[in-house]
Amino acid sequence: MSDFILRATDQDNHVRMFVAETKELVEQARIYHTTSPVATAALGRLLTAGSMMGIMMKGDKDILTLQMRGDGPIGNVLVTADSKANVKGYVGNNLVDIPLKDNGKLDVSGAVGKGTLMVIKDLGLKEPYNGTIELVSGEVADDLTYYFASSEQTPSVVALGVLVDKDYTVRQSGGFILQLMPDCPEEKIKQIEKNLSVLPSVTSMLENGQGAEGIIAMVMTGLNPVIREKSSTEYQCDCSKDRVEKALLTIGKTELQQLIDDGETVDMSCHFCNTHYEFSVEDVENILNNL
Ligand code: ZN
Repeated sequence: MSDFILRATDQDNHVRMFVAETKELVEQARIYHTTSPVATAALGRLLTAGSMMGIMMKGDKDILTLQMRGDGPIGNVLVTADSKANVKGYVGNNLVDIPLKDNGKLDVSGAVGKGTLMVIKDLGLKEPYNGTIELVSGEVADDLTYYFASSEQTPSVVALGVLVDKDYTVRQSGGFILQLMPDCPEEKIKQIEKNLSVLPSVTSMLENGQGAEGIIAMVMTGLNPVIREKSSTEYQCDCSKDRVEKALLTIGKTELQQLIDDGETVDMSCHFCNTHYEFSVEDVENILNNL
């Protein structure tokens, strides 16, 4: 198991925490999408959050979608996750290149711009759960912190970090989500605030060799944390020619007939992993006949 998520709580289950190490899966996303450093950071942060929020879901078939729509040059950033923490995602503009921030960090909020964050949970009910917030910073972690407080009424702390190396590969990636249960006593909240006030960034903790366990120990100092579960997480695309065919169907009869008349092979690629699927004129005719 390379990438993984740890779930920890204090002894009394007043506080729960998920910590993810996601270097491999974010690097996989970078390879699939040939993302620029700032696009790698934006997508990587959202993938990391998606992996942890995926595992919070209970049902085998539950699907989470996180979508950031801002007016910045990166366009849409979309991630989906299942309850086994299999994640995939894409960005609108994989090559976005903007100056670093004054502190030398990648300017994710500048790439994302102003807009909304949508969280959709398909839990197998009639209607999927849908929560949308205005982006508060576009840095992803702050936006999710606000989402949890306003849409799920769960006081949370979200921290996410992706460190891109000089050769553009992913050097470090990870994050955590800490949540307070409704009966959490005031002294524990004060202790956590104290711990957070001196906490380094996620990427510097990972860079200093503090893995997920070290991060739990630091964030939950004084709370006697217990690690309850370890789960693997990975980038996984489940596309197939059948699925891509469904997307082709949505363009409508007239357009499909046009494609047949043009007599050209249709080349479609998967948004999530860029696998190419070819549909011959005969394939398109069959699709049309089956409509
Ligand atoms: Zn795919």
